Amino acid sequence: MSPRTAAASAPVTTSNVPFYDLAPAHAPLLDQFERTFREIIKSSAFIGGQAVEDFEVSWAAYCGVKHAVGVANGTDSIELILRGLGIGPGDEVIVPANTFVATAEAVLAAGAVPRFVGVDPGTLLLTADEVRTGLRANTAAIIAVHLYGQPAPMDELHAVSTAAGVALIEDAAQAHGATWEGKPVGGLGTAGSFSFYPGKNLGALGDAGIVVTNDAALASRVRILANHGRAAGHHDHAVCGRNSRLDGLQAALLSCKLPHLDSWNSDRRRLAKLYEQSLTTSGIRMVKQDPRAASAYHLLVGLVDDRDNVRKSLDRRGIGTSIHYPLPCHRQPAFGEFYDGYLPIVERAAARIVSLPIYPGMADNDVGRVCQALHEVIEGEIEVQP
Ligand SMILES: *Cc1c(COP(=O)(O)O)cnc(C)c1O
Repeated sequence: MSPRTAAASAPVTTSNVPFYDLAPAHAPLLDQFERTFREIIKSSAFIGGQAVEDFEVSWAAYCGVKHAVGVANGTDSIELILRGLGIGPGDEVIVPANTFVATAEAVLAAGAVPRFVGVDPGTLLLTADEVRTGLRANTAAIIAVHLYGQPAPMDELHAVSTAAGVALIEDAAQAHGATWEGKPVGGLGTAGSFSFYPGKNLGALGDAGIVVTNDAALASRVRILANHGRAAGHHDHAVCGRNSRLDGLQAALLSCKLPHLDSWNSDRRRLAKLYEQSLTTSGIRMVKQDPRAASAYHLLVGLVDDRDNVRKSLDRRGIGTSIHYPLPCHRQPAFGEFYDGYLPIVERAAARIVSLPIYPGMADNDVGRVCQALHEVIEGEIEVQP
């Protein structure tokens, strides 16, 4: 091997930019996590208990609502809200087709049927006009999904749900700490649902979720349904419920992380602004932000032509990206029987969207590298994979 060849194949010194990394946020908390783990083991309060109650109180306060009910994950939380509202067989629930499949899964799990509608071409979020196209005599609820961390237009959605006399549910799984006109999401409608899946803005070290609402009766019904239908004593099963509870350990770990959520979100907002200032190509159009909303930037999404080749070229430069989501919900085989039309904005967006790296602790320098790579890839020749 000649010295020249050896030099050319020497390892690259700059590290890759991962799409997402939990490690920088968790690193300073490792000792606290371990202490918490030991405390929970000592207390044996694995299901329910003080840690769950404490976190429910803190999360309700964070969202500015009266009640929070911890559950097993952010899909169950939507299902339990629907069931708690008495929504089930014979009912339709309006769901934006641009969402994670869990929103629609929860509707079907409750026994109702999703009615998929389109989204705004700028924000890719649900609009009141889209809701109006989906309203039927048996519509029972609207699910506003705060996708990518950006609140859906709650003023208009509130007006349309009130006029139609249907519930307005927030799927805030991607929007912990996002605000609409200065108010935190979750408490803006009939009830709100959060997921604490590890990769969310506030994540447990496993699965977890929560229901928030100002309606005491609804909170109580959700709590009963999530705990085997227990209303009074341990052996009183008033209704046929299910098992969807928040673990004591996850609740305690979430309480360790909650004090940091605002600073993690401001990190994300700062990084999003830095992207905006550093992007030097007009070949990628970032998803529009509603000036009334403050996004939690769970994801930073742009639209670009020839998306798959752009991603491959970025990958060759060591830059991780993702797609949320490559096949819209109503096109998934699982939900095909509930939609046979065409939602042009959603389908066109699905072919062009790309999610760029953004996470607390990401180096500013890395934003520069992603923007530089995007410039090279989009403005230059896109190398097509042989
Ligand atoms: C993650 C997510 C869910 C589901 O949460 P799980 O805790 O994974 O069940 C629901 N809706 C949206 C929009 C999500 O991103």
